[in-house]
Amino acid sequence: MIDKEALGPSRILESPVDVLTTLHSDGKRKWMYPTESKGRYLSKRRIVAWVLVVLYLILPILQLAGRPVVLLDFVHREFALFGLVFYPTDTILMMIFMVGVMLSIVLVTALLGRVWCGWSCPQTVYLEFVFRPLERLIEGPEHVRKRRNEGPRTLDRLWRKAAKQVVFLVISILLSHTFIAYFVGWTSLNSWLQGPPAENWGFFLLTTIVTGLVWFDFAYFREQMCTIACPYARMQSIMLDRDSLIVSYDPGRGEPRAKRSKKALLEESKGLIESKGDCIDCYACVRTCPTGIDIRDGLQMECVTCTQCIDACDHIMDNLAKPRGLIRYTSENQLEGIKTKLIRPRSVIYAMLIILMFSAFTFVLTSRDSYDINVGRAVGEPFAELQDGHISNRLRFRVRNQTANESTFEITSIEPIGTQLRIVGTSPVELLPGEMKRVEVWVLIPKEALSSTSVEGKFRITFSDGHVDEPSFVLLGPNHNQ
Ligand code: SF4
Ligand code: SF4
Repeated sequence: MIDKEALGPSRILESPVDVLTTLHSDGKRKWMYPTESKGRYLSKRRIVAWVLVVLYLILPILQLAGRPVVLLDFVHREFALFGLVFYPTDTILMMIFMVGVMLSIVLVTALLGRVWCGWSCPQTVYLEFVFRPLERLIEGPEHVRKRRNEGPRTLDRLWRKAAKQVVFLVISILLSHTFIAYFVGWTSLNSWLQGPPAENWGFFLLTTIVTGLVWFDFAYFREQMCTIACPYARMQSIMLDRDSLIVSYDPGRGEPRAKRSKKALLEESKGLIESKGDCIDCYACVRTCPTGIDIRDGLQMECVTCTQCIDACDHIMDNLAKPRGLIRYTSENQLEGIKTKLIRPRSVIYAMLIILMFSAFTFVLTSRDSYDINVGRAVGEPFAELQDGHISNRLRFRVRNQTANESTFEITSIEPIGTQLRIVGTSPVELLPGEMKRVEVWVLIPKEALSSTSVEGKFRITFSDGHVDEPSFVLLGPNHNQ
C-alpha cells in the first residue's frame, strides 16, 4: 500500500481499505478479473505493445557488424548494445553507461511518472496484450470466467483451463528461449537446440527453470509482480513530485460522488435538484484496474499507469454526455490549479547529470584502445639458464581485438638488444572482431644483457591494420654474485 509518510499528507486521499487490493483481509489471494476497456489509450497501447513484442523477440537474433544487436553475456563478460561492444576491461565505461541509464529512468519517471510500467514493461506488455487476450478468447470475458471459476467443476471449465495452460506453456517456452538468447547469443542457443539434450543438459535445465518461472508469472503471479515484487514501484515515491505526470481522478469535479439514474442527472443539469459530482460511482474504473485499486482513493503505489481506468471512465462520461477526463493524465499541481512545470530544479539537475554521464561515456569510448594487451608470466619456473648461454623467460601475451574488423598480429623483441623470441604456435596470430587470444612466448635473453637479476624487456606488437603497441615486462635471471 501507499507510503503515506513519504508521499506527505497532501499527496494522497485516505483509502478506506488498508490492505493490499490483491489480498483478502484474511491474507488469501484475491483473483483479479479486470475487464477490458476499449478506448483511445488502449488502441495506442496495443500498437506500442505489439511493436515491443516484435522487438523483444527479434533483438537477440538481429546482427549488427557481425554481432548481436543486444547481448548480455555475463559468463564471458562480453556485452553488445546496438553496435557498441563492451569487454571485461571496460568496467568504467559500463559503470558510466549504467549510471547514465539509471539517471535517465529517474528523469523520465520524474517527468512522465510510471510511463514505463504502463506502456513498455515486458510484464505489462505480455500480460495485457498476449496472455490476457488469449485467456479471454479461450475462457470468455471476465464476468463469465469469474462465474465459471466460482461454480462447480464442470467438463467445460476443465477443458478450457487445460487448453489455456497448454497455450500459456507454449508461449512461455518461446519467451524463455528469447530471454536466454539475450544472455548467451542466438548462435549458441541455436546450436544447443539442435544438439541432443544429454550433451546440453545445463541448457535444458536452465530453459526448463526459466519456462517454469515465466509460466508461473503470467499464469498465476500476474499483478503481484508489480504490487509486491518489483522494486521500481517502491522507489516511486522518491522519484515522483507534484509536477510528475500521473493517472489521477479529479476529486474537484467528481465529488460528491453518487449513484443516480439518467433521469436524476437530467434534472440536475436543469437545476431542478441539487447537483452532485460527475462521478456516478459506477465502479467501471475499479473493475478494469489490473491491480484492483480504486484510483479515486488517490495516488497509490499499485497504480502501474496502464490508463485502463481513463478509457473506462471516458466511456461512462460519453454515455452521460459529460466531458471526458474525470480520470486523466495530469499532475498533482495541475489538479490543484497550479501550472505543471516541466523545467524544475530536479529535472534540470538530472538532465545535466545525464549529459555529463553520456559525454564522459562518449569520451572514454572514443579514446578506448583498438587492442587490449596484457603481458604476464606463464605458469612454471620464472627463468631457466640454457646451455647456449641464453636465459629463458616464458611469457603469456593476452591480446583482444576491440575493433569491428578481423586482424592479425606479430610479436617481436626490441630490448634487451639481441633477445630472441620463440612463439608457441603459429605467427602471425589471427584475431576475429572482439576475439581474445593468449600466446605463449619463450624469451631468450643473452646472458650479458642481464647485469643483475632482472632487466626491462620491451616488445613490439604489430597488427595488420598498421597499429603498433610496445608493452614492457620485467625479465628475470640468476644472481651471479652468489
Ligand atoms: S468510472 Fe468514472 S464515474 Fe465511474 S466510478 Fe470511476 S470515476 Fe466514477
Ligand atoms: S488505477 Fe488506473 S492507471 Fe492505475 S493501474 Fe488501475 S487502471 Fe491502471
